[in-house]
Amino acid sequence: MTKRVRTRIAPSPTGDPHVGTGYIALYNYAFAKQHGGDFLLRIEDTDQSRCSDASEQAIFDSLRWLGLSWDEGPDIGGEKGPYRQSERLKIYRAYIQQLIDSGAAYKCTCTPERLAEVRKRQQALKQPTGYDGHCRDRDPAEVQAEIDAGAPYVVRLRTPRDGATRFVDLVRGEVSINNTEVDDQVLMKSDGFPTYHLANVVDDHLMEITHVIRGEEWISSTPKHILMYDAFGWERPNFVHLPLLRNNDKSKVSKRKNPVSLNYFKEAGYLPDAMVNFFGLMAFSFRDEREVFTLKDFTEELDLKRISLGGPVFDLTKLLWLNGRYLREQREVPQVLSYLKEQLFQEDYLVKVIELVQERVEKSEDFIPYASFFFAGDVETDPKWLMLKGATKKESRAAFEMLADRIDALQEFSPESIEETLKGTCQDSGLKPKQFFMPVRMIITNKKGSPPLYDTMAVLGKERCRFRIRKALERFKQWEPPKAT
Ligand code: GLU
Repeated sequence: MTKRVRTRIAPSPTGDPHVGTGYIALYNYAFAKQHGGDFLLRIEDTDQSRCSDASEQAIFDSLRWLGLSWDEGPDIGGEKGPYRQSERLKIYRAYIQQLIDSGAAYKCTCTPERLAEVRKRQQALKQPTGYDGHCRDRDPAEVQAEIDAGAPYVVRLRTPRDGATRFVDLVRGEVSINNTEVDDQVLMKSDGFPTYHLANVVDDHLMEITHVIRGEEWISSTPKHILMYDAFGWERPNFVHLPLLRNNDKSKVSKRKNPVSLNYFKEAGYLPDAMVNFFGLMAFSFRDEREVFTLKDFTEELDLKRISLGGPVFDLTKLLWLNGRYLREQREVPQVLSYLKEQLFQEDYLVKVIELVQERVEKSEDFIPYASFFFAGDVETDPKWLMLKGATKKESRAAFEMLADRIDALQEFSPESIEETLKGTCQDSGLKPKQFFMPVRMIITNKKGSPPLYDTMAVLGKERCRFRIRKALERFKQWEPPKAT
């Protein structure tokens, strides 16, 4: 009997929901549905210091927005739950013990200081860095005695020293990685939390995942996973590593170059069916070379043999073109009306805008010209606005870059957190508020006088603010200050 196909998307809830998650989720969803199987959502939140509930919620919301619904997951349950790794710690502890008992893993009491020294030595000798195996062949009783006396410890995978680990990738064929390149990976940290590798393998097995379809960046982890499947005596799932999304210059997509948060695309008015279509085009082409298709078409047509591995470019110009086509060809006027109401004219948004604008206008006709920046994506800016008084171009650029990075990292985007970020950036760049605040106001609103800056930014939202800062920065980078005459 062939097994029921089960796939999963396993994001870590850190930061904003990434376009890569939408892209990989689509292929997993379509593959499972094509085979009459199940698509699962698992939250990989073992790195507690970086994970947040808000980020988890944003993953749910954006995948639902895309129409990629899951059959089992943390919010809807299922037979193989819980589907949040932080709720499965007991399970991992039992399994790690099994690996220790069989000798496939070992306890290690090396201190962070010792590991730092080893690393330094390896770097000085121009050797590859990695764990030097100090605890690997020690007498386990001796290591245990240290642990009993209170020494913190981690558990590591005992990777073979020679030979190679091989696996089949359904798209790439056989992949072979020399074991010398595979580190004795930490599987359980000193706080008792599993690392990604252990939790991922145990869960994929217990959740009966048949096809692990994930991004190319995990290929180097796969040998570690294979070694664990073999050590547990478990059947390996099938692996597919999809190519990474790239910027136009072929570098890996990054928020420094382009928006990569699904929130941005949702707020900017990209249509979910156009997004799904665009993700579909990233690694796959239809036999008839069709470029416009629905999720249903994609689900029917997806064929791993037609996956292409060349770095797909996440080309915003193409996405915009596609979105335009969807808006013109796939939406009737009443639908566009609801789209505009939803995207731009939601009542609670209008109320917030009115609260900031009311005292600054005289009559209804004045609202739109005055408040237009509340309804736009980018605003026009002059690069010279970013040239801070008394600072060099380099210093000015660094200050705005710091601001954009800090805004990217903000979980909560409120007048208070914005104030703190702006003031902190000012101070850490050695600038005075007087030098910095007006230019920020101008690149956000295209106006010298606007409602209070922190409130204005909070109403505009994080995605729009960071988009405007990054766009203004791009223009500034290309700009040459006029030569003094
Ligand atoms: N938690 C990993 C991620 O954030 C999952 C990778 C995998 O699919 O194995 O992408």
